Amino acid sequence: MEHKEQNECNHYKGLDEETLFMVSQTFKALSDPTRIRILHLLSTRECSVNEITGELSLMQSTVSHQLRFLKNLRLVKFRREGTSLYYSIDDEHVITLLNQMIHHVNHD
Ligand SMILES: [Zn+2]
Repeated sequence: MEHKEQNECNHYKGLDEETLFMVSQTFKALSDPTRIRILHLLSTRECSVNEITGELSLMQSTVSHQLRFLKNLRLVKFRREGTSLYYSIDDEHVITLLNQMIHHVNHD
């Protein structure tokens, strides 16, 4: 019978390629100050593109570009009302992570 070393880690399976890629892409999404501001605003309420633009003093083209990026990563979602698009947080997981990070950088 084969005898395993005590410190051998038999059960570690690692992360599959797809998971690894998506996790790194999601962290990348959170590494941009403008995207962090948009996500933080949307964590407080649903907003139209115009509201985001006004609230954060950003250009509409910048906001639209970043919202598309965030949408592709399933971090935000939208609904259409008349001619306006209303954006909100797609998922609480990433907002929880973002709020933990904000708390971490601000605590002693
Ligand atoms: Zn901390």
